[in-house]
Amino acid sequence: MTEKKSSKKKTIKQKSAEQGNISIHTENIFPIIKKWLYSEKEIFLRELVSNAVDAIHKMQHVNLVENLQKSDEYRVDVSLDKENKTLTIKDNGIGMTADEIRRYINQIAFSSAEEFVEKFKDLEDKSQIIGHFGLGFYSSFMVAKKVEIRSLSYQADASGAYWSCDGSTSYELSEIDKADRGTEITLFLEDDELEFLETPRVREVLTRYCNFLPIAIHLEGDVVNDQNPLWTKMASELSDDDYKEFYHKLYPFSDDPLFWIHLNIDFPFNLKGILYFPKLTNEFDVTKSHIKLFCNQVFVSDNCAELIPEFLTPLQGCLDAPDLPLNVSRSYLQNEPQVRKIRDVITSRVAGKIVELDKQDRTAFSPAWADIHTFVKFGMMKDDKFYEKLKDHTLFALSGSEEWMTLPEYIEGNSAAEATTIYYTNDEVAQATYLKLFKAQGINVLVLDTQIDSHFIQFLEMKNSEVKFARVDADITQKLIQQDAASDPVDGEDGKTRDERIIELFKQSLKDESLEVRVERLKDKSVPAMALFSEQGRRFQEMTRTMGKNIPMPGSVPSLLINGSSPIVQKILDLHARQKAEDVDLLVAQVYDLAMLTCRAFDQEQMARFLDRSHQLLSRVNVDSTEE
Ligand code: ADP
Repeated sequence: MTEKKSSKKKTIKQKSAEQGNISIHTENIFPIIKKWLYSEKEIFLRELVSNAVDAIHKMQHVNLVENLQKSDEYRVDVSLDKENKTLTIKDNGIGMTADEIRRYINQIAFSSAEEFVEKFKDLEDKSQIIGHFGLGFYSSFMVAKKVEIRSLSYQADASGAYWSCDGSTSYELSEIDKADRGTEITLFLEDDELEFLETPRVREVLTRYCNFLPIAIHLEGDVVNDQNPLWTKMASELSDDDYKEFYHKLYPFSDDPLFWIHLNIDFPFNLKGILYFPKLTNEFDVTKSHIKLFCNQVFVSDNCAELIPEFLTPLQGCLDAPDLPLNVSRSYLQNEPQVRKIRDVITSRVAGKIVELDKQDRTAFSPAWADIHTFVKFGMMKDDKFYEKLKDHTLFALSGSEEWMTLPEYIEGNSAAEATTIYYTNDEVAQATYLKLFKAQGINVLVLDTQIDSHFIQFLEMKNSEVKFARVDADITQKLIQQDAASDPVDGEDGKTRDERIIELFKQSLKDESLEVRVERLKDKSVPAMALFSEQGRRFQEMTRTMGKNIPMPGSVPSLLINGSSPIVQKILDLHARQKAEDVDLLVAQVYDLAMLTCRAFDQEQMARFLDRSHQLLSRVNVDSTEE
């Protein structure tokens, strides 16, 4: 964190080595800092502890470069002194000489804090600053009336340095005896900030922000952090249980995740992390980001919606993105090319994972698919690359079975008669009659019964002009029709054929000349008639209805298909021949209602008529009859 600021040095008037004034451009920065981010004062701990960890990293680096072969036990200690009302953060890092304190604390640290406040003081929504990085050392003045630094640099012959500042613009700097290398920062807490003397409270803050820091953080003797969080490890070393355990550490009361993705990217940018697809329950808020963002294992934010595409908002887990400029506003982040790249990588990895899981074991994967399919379909409609990756692995449930299949698999299973038509049902109960017919002929029917499916169907047809989706009640496929039943004999003296007679009877009896009626001989004789909706007409109708209008258009009213091979239809013809007009009317009306019942809700009057007629028919059954 030092490098990025060293270029921002500002001139500071230095009176003497002992006493001095921090030169400021805003009249007084401390009142602003104190008021700053009132609700998140606790971040001072994160800032100071991560500085301590940085100082240790620098020491480790020096050891490495100078080959000092030291085997220090690097650690950060947070200690609380209730009597003196102080909180102290101590590290055995690189330390600072008095001169460095002058440069790094008085100058750089101060000027960057000042710059930070300048930049964001007018911002209404303070939470817009991701992680609020950049306030650094001076954030200690949010809770302290006085801050002291005691430090001993690693450099040979360095002497200890003492710095103190009471939140005014003057500071004190002097030489002290200090035996051990490193820095100790002591905060004399304000009277209304004494909560930071309570171990549980401090532990809570450390767990929130410092839980995964790579150096041991001791609080009153205990190590509070996990220095090697899972995302820093190699995926090959980890078991499913390791991932689940880590997930439960991050989200204690959740069910096991459905699956996860371990990111470990070094090039062209750094990005590590583990993303989990959670089991979505009713309580799960799918509108808000659940990912925890880290920067070199320092917790930054648990709301980083910018980093993942909208359709993947349910993802949980953590991302460690050390290269991201974090102290900038949201709107900036959105346009940051780096952020776009991260989003692309995540999208592509999620798609890759779904493909992998499908290839590995579809049966095992299908319950998870059932949970995530809405997001995946939404994503495919939003993001073309995502669509391309997943188009051959988008799963659809097969009606009447436990099986799932992809579109290419479905089309491959089609006979020449159906070609690229995909039959589907959006209501297995209401469309049971149709499903029975399809099943008997071995034609696959997909279940597309969720809200997104009607949009998804349109989308898929647009993407691939060859495929056509047809609901099972849209039309009748040739496969359901008896092929040898071409004969349509003349029926009666007026020269009409049997089919024409049937049509005439139905139209007259129903008193609806405009009703579209056609006769086909179905292989299944048990169904006397079916309602058919033209796919396009119905879709148009549904669309206008969702727009709050109801514009009738040709094809949007169901037509009636009469099964010429049904014995009931034959019975109607026979009754007609015997001039039993009343019976004909009764049967025609009942056959019609039964066909419509599967697809259209009756209004009160229609229902009353239907029940009345049913009772009439029941009363005609002669239980003692042995005639037939
Ligand atoms: P940042 O950490 O973002 O650079 P800070 O205001 O927190 O900004 O700190 C300013 C500088 O002071 C750091 O860059 C570092 O050089 C020095 N510093 C702060 N804390 C320590 C520490 N515990 N040990 C050594 N140097 C420190």
